[in-house]
Order: sequence, then C-alpha cells, then structure tokens
Amino acid sequence: MNAPDNSTQADAKPTPSDLQRSFLRHLKHTIVKDKYSATPADLYLALAYAVRDMLAERWLETQQAYYRNNAKRVYYISMEFLMGRTLGNSLINLGIMEEWEGALKQLGIDATDLQESEWDAGLGNGGLGRLAACFLDSLATMSLPAYGYGIRFEYGMFFQKIVDGGQYETPDNWLRYGNPWEFGRQEHLHKIRYHGRVTEYRDEEGMQRHDWVDTHDVMAMAYDVPVPGYGNETVNTLRLWSAKSTRDFELSFFNQGNYIGAVESKMRTENISKVLYPADHMAEGKELRLRQEYFLSSATVQDIFYRFSKKHGDVSILPTKVAIQLNDTHPTLAIPELVRILLDEKLLAWDDAWKISVETFAYTNHTVLPEALETWPVRILENILPRHLQIIYQINDHFLREVASRFPDDMERLRRMSIVAEEGEKHIRMAHLAIVGSHSVNGVSALHSQILKDDLFHDFYEMWPERFNNKTNGITQRRWLKHANRWLADLVSSRIGHGWITDLGELARLRELADDREFQQQWIEVKQANKRHLADLILRDTGVRVSADSLFDCQTKRIHEYKRQLLNVLHVITRYNRIKATPGCAITPRTVIFSGKAAPSYFMAKLIIQLITAVGAVVNNDPAIHGLLKVVFMPNYNVSLAECIFPAADLSEQISTAGTEASGTGNMKYALNGALTIGTLDGANIEIMEEVGRDNIFIFGLTSKQVTHLKRAGYHPRDHYLSDPELKQALDMIAGGTFSPDDPDRFRPISDNLLANDHYLLLADYASYITSQEQVDRLYQEPYEWARRSILNTAGMGKFSSDRTIAEYAREIWNIQPEIIRPTRRFNI
Ligand SMILES: *Cc1c(COP(=O)(O)O)cnc(C)c1O
Repeated sequence: MNAPDNSTQADAKPTPSDLQRSFLRHLKHTIVKDKYSATPADLYLALAYAVRDMLAERWLETQQAYYRNNAKRVYYISMEFLMGRTLGNSLINLGIMEEWEGALKQLGIDATDLQESEWDAGLGNGGLGRLAACFLDSLATMSLPAYGYGIRFEYGMFFQKIVDGGQYETPDNWLRYGNPWEFGRQEHLHKIRYHGRVTEYRDEEGMQRHDWVDTHDVMAMAYDVPVPGYGNETVNTLRLWSAKSTRDFELSFFNQGNYIGAVESKMRTENISKVLYPADHMAEGKELRLRQEYFLSSATVQDIFYRFSKKHGDVSILPTKVAIQLNDTHPTLAIPELVRILLDEKLLAWDDAWKISVETFAYTNHTVLPEALETWPVRILENILPRHLQIIYQINDHFLREVASRFPDDMERLRRMSIVAEEGEKHIRMAHLAIVGSHSVNGVSALHSQILKDDLFHDFYEMWPERFNNKTNGITQRRWLKHANRWLADLVSSRIGHGWITDLGELARLRELADDREFQQQWIEVKQANKRHLADLILRDTGVRVSADSLFDCQTKRIHEYKRQLLNVLHVITRYNRIKATPGCAITPRTVIFSGKAAPSYFMAKLIIQLITAVGAVVNNDPAIHGLLKVVFMPNYNVSLAECIFPAADLSEQISTAGTEASGTGNMKYALNGALTIGTLDGANIEIMEEVGRDNIFIFGLTSKQVTHLKRAGYHPRDHYLSDPELKQALDMIAGGTFSPDDPDRFRPISDNLLANDHYLLLADYASYITSQEQVDRLYQEPYEWARRSILNTAGMGKFSSDRTIAEYAREIWNIQPEIIRPTRRFNI
C-alpha cells in the first residue's frame, strides 16, 4: 500500500491578495499590531494564524467523516512527540508554500525568515519522539483515521548551551509567546485518580467486585494540535494532555480558610505535566515519572472509551473499532487501566475484559539496553495506584498459570517470565506486562526484532511466536527531503517528477541517472550550496570557520556510550597525529561535526562533550594542521538544526556497537539527503546496506553475533591498546592531559573506562574503523565517483519512508483502512 494518489487537491488556489488580506487581518485583529510595531515574532504569528484558518474546515470535516462512517481508529500513545516547527510543514502539506512566499514577498516580507522565528516543539528526547512525529505525518498523508496522544509538557527538552566547553542546560519555555497550533478544549476533561484504597463488594450476581475510593484527583485537559496530510484533505488530531487541579480539591482547602494551602496544592497537582524527563535510553525511577505515565495512559483510555461509547453500547466489539499502539513501555499502564474500566465500571467478567484488552493493544519495543527497560517498585505502585497493582497481580496469576501448563515443572522459566521481579525489592517489569497484554510485539528493524526473539524476549517468543513481528522504522520524506533540502528536492523532481513525495520508491528511478555527468555535477552543486549554508551556521554558533570544500563528516544524535561518539573522537585524534607526523601530507581535508544532548545526570556523556570541544580547541588552533582538520560541536541539537545538517553532510557516522541501536532513523535521514554512511552492521544500517548496495556504504566492525561471542569468551581491551601504537598514542593523549592542560586528569575517567571495561567494544572496532575511514578519504578524492554513490544512496531510500512503515502497521497490526476525505469547499480564508 502506497500513500493514495492525493490528487483531490486545490484546483482553485487562493490569490496573492486573498493571502495578504488574511495575513494583514490577523496582524491587525488577532495580534493587534501594524507594520510599524510588528516584531518578526508578530509577523510569524500572523502568518501562522492565517495558515491555521486554512486547516480549520478540513479538520472539522475529517473528524466528522470518521464519526459519520464509524471508522476503526488507531491511537498512537507516546510520552514523546518531537515535532519541531509546524509552519513550514503545514505550508508544504497544504501545497501553498510558493503561493505564500510570493504573497509575502509583495509585502516585503521573507517567508523563510518568518519560519525561523518559530520555536521548536521539543516534546521528546530523540529518535523515539521523532518517530512518533514522522508517523503522524504518514498517517494523515495516507488518509488513515488516527490520533496521537501525548502530554503537553510545559517545558520540553532542555536548551543546550556550551559553556567552558561543557553542556549547560536551560529550561525550554516553549509556550512563552503562545502556541498558535494548539486549541485548548476546556470541555474535554478527564479525572485522573491517584492513591486512595480499594474496597470489595459482591454484585447482584454474587461476583466479587472492587471500588477504588478516597483518591487524590487531578484533571487532564485536552489541547488539540492539527496534523495535516500532504496533498489531501485529511487533518488528524494530536491530543496532548495538560494537568489541572480539580475544583473540589481546592474547595476543601478553601472551606478550612487555608487559601495559600489551596493554591499550593493546585500547583503541586499541576506539576504532573510540567517537564519532560530528559534521559534517553535510561529509565528514571522517579515517582513523578510514574504519575506522568499513568496520567497519559488513563486520560487517553478514558477518552478512547468516551468516543467509542458515543456509537456503541457493546464493549465486546471494542477491538473491531479501536487499535492502540504503545510507543515503548511508557504508556503500558493503559493496559491495566482498560482492564480496570471493563471490570470495575462495565462490570465484565475477567476473561471477557482480558480478551478485549489483549485484542486492542499492541506494543513496540525500542531498546534492548538493560538500563532502559522500565521496572517500578511494587511499593511505589501500591501507594500511587493500588487498584492497578491488584490487577497487574491478577494478570500475572493468569499468565503464570498459562506458562506452567505449557511448560510444566520449569520453575526457572516462571521466575524469568514473571511480570513481578522477585530478586531484591519487588518490581513490576513493564515490558513483560506489555507483552502479556498485547496481541502484537514488534521491534523496529530486522536485526532488532530478531534479537527480541532470540534473546531479550526468547521465553515469550517460545510461548507466543505469532505475536512477534518486525516494523522497520522510517522517516517522512515531506519533512526530511522536500522541506529540509529544497534544492535537492527540486533537482530530483526535475528529473523524475513529484511522485516520490508520496511514493518514495520512485527514487529508484534516480539509479539510471547515477552515471550521468551533468546530473552528477548538479548533485555536487546542491551539496556544495547546502554545505556553504551550514558553514555559515557553524561560524555563527561556534565561531569556527570551516571550508565547504572539506569533507563534512557528521555524527549528530543523543550523546550515549553505546552510540560511540568516543570512537569517532579516537579517529579524529589519530588523524590529527598523522597530519602532525607527516607535514605536507595529502590527506583529505575534513570537518568533523558533532551535535547532540547528554542527559543532565549522565556523567560520562557530559564528559564526552567536553572532550569533543577540547579536542576541537587543540586541533582547530594548531597551525601545523593547516586547516586540514576541523572539529566542531554544534550546540542544541534539535529538529530544526537537524534540518540544516542532514542536507549538508557528506559522511554519516552510524557507528554504534552492533546489537545496541534498535534501528536508528538519523541514518535514514542522512542517506536520503545523499550522505554516504560509515557504519556498523547494526539496526537499520543493515537494511540500508541491502538497499543501497554493499559497494555504496562503508561497513566496518564486529557483527552482533561476534559481539556476543567476544563478550562470552572474555574481552580484553588492553590487548588492543598494547598492540596498536596509534590507538595507544590517542588514549595516552586523553589520559595525559593533551586536551586538558589546565587539568591533566580531566579526561582520565574516559581512558580508564576504555582500558578497564570498554563495555561497548570501541577498542575492538578501532582498527577496522580507521581502515574504513581511509577508504572514505580515497573515495572523496574522486568527486564524480563519490557523487555517483551519493545518488545511489538517495535512490535506494524508498524502503525507509515512514509511509511504508505505517502501511505495514495498518495492514498487519491495526487492521484499519484509509478514510478518504472529500473536498467540501475550496480554501476559505
Ligand atoms: C532523527 C533524529 C534523532 C534520532 O537520531 P539517531 O541517529 O537515530 O539516534 C534524534 N534527534 C533528532 C532531532 C532527530 O531529528
């Protein structure tokens, strides 16, 4: 299933004067400014409001059509949505970018400048949150009846500054100037309960029933964000929940004359949606985080139930009308929450409630790293969600009985598979709960899904092989090529037409142009222009002057030991030493670009940032290097910065230890924009290699099987250090203070850690990585051959559209169909 042919769009487009009138009306009547007093932010807002108007009717019509036709809906529940900016994306999806640019130009206003004054919506950490955002774009573009559900964090991902070479976090107050893309829905409120106690009673049939009483309540209020499809009439909804205190809670304080107490308690309850936890691939065992997870889960399940109940009385058909996808385990409490509603409120029998729930839920796993797998102490759940803990125990009881009957006399298996971990303090394993409570469990690349079956969830695979499946991640080409890299998009369209925008497989037609010298030349010129643009940004943000003629070697992603930014640094240091050792050598000039945030509490990740900037300070200022090597760290990696970096990259660094990166999506964005990948056989890199061809990618390092064997056999990093003089030299420089003369021991924890454990096997992969980098250098000396392979990379990216991923989810997990929205009127502004 490809995105449907979206040719229903706008025969009649608005005229420039229509657009200008709408823009000026909003400037005057919504913002209340004129051309003398308007700031760039005001002009942005006026445009945003005018564009928003163009979405309104389609949005209402889409929602009515879903209701009228009683479509089966899919609900994508995610703690994170890393949306980035909305204006440019809306202009593209509405197909009115050029029209607006022209209309504003006549008023002396540059539309691109306005777009840049929009603040990123950064309600996510990295790949997981950005995947959710790409999925929303694909769902709407493919006319699928879908809703995203998340939390309206008042503070998103922190803003990163580099101070004295290290990361400094400041709060991301993204709503400060208002958000024109959200609509508060005072009427869509759900009560979210915490604490209290459970009472028992017998119903009319003599069944044991439960009431959850004396709870502390918070209200969840909906904020809706429109999600327009590309070139069609669909506008779906992203619904974000915000915590509000309940009125009765306040009144009880007021009645005691405790005014300040009432306000304080109001503030406390509203803290739930205050801030996003900024740790990626690291489970935070904080109570507030659990409250957030339940807040999202409960508000969403109640909302889904409310919408379902408007049309249906019989809850047994819920799975035929509702599919719920859990983005990682963060919203797993939605499972016991649905079961609770079915048991305690709809008074269903256990077996019926459980069957409905399992048929409704599906779970996506995003990581195999042990530190990222969520577990919650039973003690905390007992206090905050006593009824849910009972239900989880009951789920586990039924489940373990099933395991015991399938695998008799296997106590060890029961212990391993139990939802309750009994070692030390009792914990609930959220991934086990998610698997037991879902009819589908998927990984996000072929390798990752295989590892789930062979290793992490092997016991569950033996029990329910039919539940396990793969959905390789994807990215939306609307944002990551058409919007981010306009010049390349136009060049591509000039040769193969516009079909790729909704059918990325069309890019394969570029293959026959890969040898075309004229096309190669144009391809090179586009890359060069993008590099000049990025070079300007680098100068502005880091003060370092880099040459657009050097090879742009990019590693941009969260800073994490498993992603191995340090391996990249070891290459940089080695390169530096080689240039110094051979003055006047003919090495390929390179600019090594890093960007990414470290979790504020992750000591080693922050030290890695310091090392990168410290190496940059030495290398960039060493006259003996003659500009052959530059190292920059671009601060505050987010979607908007990513949109500038991907189009300018020559080389994409995807160098995680094999078996650790579930998929990666940065790898796909780079290749789509014509970067060549240097990477390990990890995550989706393997599938990228299959698509672009083994000759058009630089693969190095151990395979995930070799990693497993090496660890089992006993790994000795020091052997590599002792036998490889260049590696030894690089590590000795880190340890000895070459990059920290003011504090020679500053980076000792890094070298000590690599020599003592090297958990992610950097030293084992070092030699192979360096060899691979030498091949990169040689190829870059042949610009047309490089361009040919770059074209073949873009041409091979058809598989990695999130449209393909979503088509697979829709067919194989959700069983939902497109609901084509017919145009009812033309642009109405
Ligand atoms: C795509 C993207 C990511 C994920 O990158 P990986 O290299 O797959 O980890 C993280 N952050 C932003 C801003 C992105 O756009």
